[in-house]
Amino acid sequence: MSNTHECTLCGSSAVHATTYSDTFIHRGVETAVDGLEVMRCDACGEELIEADQARRNYRKMVDIGRTVDGLLTGDAIVHLRKRLGLTQQEAAELFGGGPNAFSKYERGDVVQSIAMDRLLRLVGSFPLLLDWLRAIAQSDAGLSEVSDGRWSGAVPVASTSERGLMFSTAFKAQSIASNVSYPELEAA
Ligand SMILES: [Zn+2]
Repeated sequence: MSNTHECTLCGSSAVHATTYSDTFIHRGVETAVDGLEVMRCDACGEELIEADQARRNYRKMVDIGRTVDGLLTGDAIVHLRKRLGLTQQEAAELFGGGPNAFSKYERGDVVQSIAMDRLLRLVGSFPLLLDWLRAIAQSDAGLSEVSDGRWSGAVPVASTSERGLMFSTAFKAQSIASNVSYPELEAA
């Protein structure tokens, strides 16, 4: 955004960025939205939305839609990903969705599927599952080892201890120990 603005209607330079409120309806649910951005001319009242303002406004709308639909917002996905210590690229490699999936989810350019949303919540609640995901992502075993409805290559073993839940995964003779902290369970 440049610092000098001339009104396209009256030519005044009294144009500045301001915010407004509106209501947005998604699937019949009406939600008040504050902080929508616009450029306004104090001299004549003309309003103009710049490209970056329109992008941010659009993201607010997308997040309202996601909230109404019960999905994580862009900020919530950023928070969850960073809490798991993952870059956007690492998150895409582990969770899928394509190479730029997380920048798109987080910016609101693409809304994550319900399946992706639930996977993110699941791993967000049980971060030790990250190690299992890593093992799956790094393996070429694919689904060929599925038999009798079970994946014989990976055997999760869970047991409780004083510090909460211990979780180890035996995978192709590799033992994977987790170093991800588990604050929710340790607090319980
Ligand atoms: Zn004006």
